[in-house]
Amino acid sequence: MKAMPKGLLIVLSGPSGAGKGTVCQLLRQRNPRLAYSVSATTRAPRPGEKHGVNYFFLNREEFETWRARGEFLEWAEVYGNLYGTPRSYVEERLASGQDVLLEIDTQGALQVKASFPTGVFIFLLPPSFAELKARITQRGTESENERMRRLAAAQSEIAQLRAYDYLVVNDKVEEAVARVEAILMAEHARVNRFSDEELKAQLEGQLG
Ligand code: 5GP
Repeated sequence: MKAMPKGLLIVLSGPSGAGKGTVCQLLRQRNPRLAYSVSATTRAPRPGEKHGVNYFFLNREEFETWRARGEFLEWAEVYGNLYGTPRSYVEERLASGQDVLLEIDTQGALQVKASFPTGVFIFLLPPSFAELKARITQRGTESENERMRRLAAAQSEIAQLRAYDYLVVNDKVEEAVARVEAILMAEHARVNRFSDEELKAQLEGQLG
């Protein structure tokens, strides 16, 4: 049997309005084997959002309990709410050879980078600041205050861009997804991702 290389840990960040949600959705549709990590949050659900699907919606006390037990791979406060990535799901999927996608903010991404330096860190940007502003304003799911806060936060998210490996501009969603897929294909082909044992098994499979 071929040795199974571990899956890729893919971290996707970008300011509010970059279209992370849409890109993730299409990426998952086109790549059903990609495991999507559902985060925990203390934010209230938006209309249509489901517990366990969009997020695990927790109150602060529950979130603190998870955190104290070390159940988060990373966690951060974003726009006054707590968000965290459940550790066990990510570790189990990676070990089984599946790629895992995290859609998290830059504070969380920096924490993940410290523990998973071999992760693939992708930053998504809208085509222009004007477009970002328009997308945040059109969204209509948040109050005016919330929109102003997201706009200011977008600037500080963008300031972290250098910590990422790849920049993808989301002009047309299909093209942005195709670019992410190309990045993942290249990352899978990197020789230094294979252990000596895995390389030997690959060579035996191909040449033997
Ligand atoms: P929203 O409340 O709009 O769904 O997400 C707000 C922000 O929180 C987004 O930038 C999103 O990427 C980020 N976020 C979602 N889940 C997590 C998480 O588990 N950890 C961190 N650090 N950020 C998250």
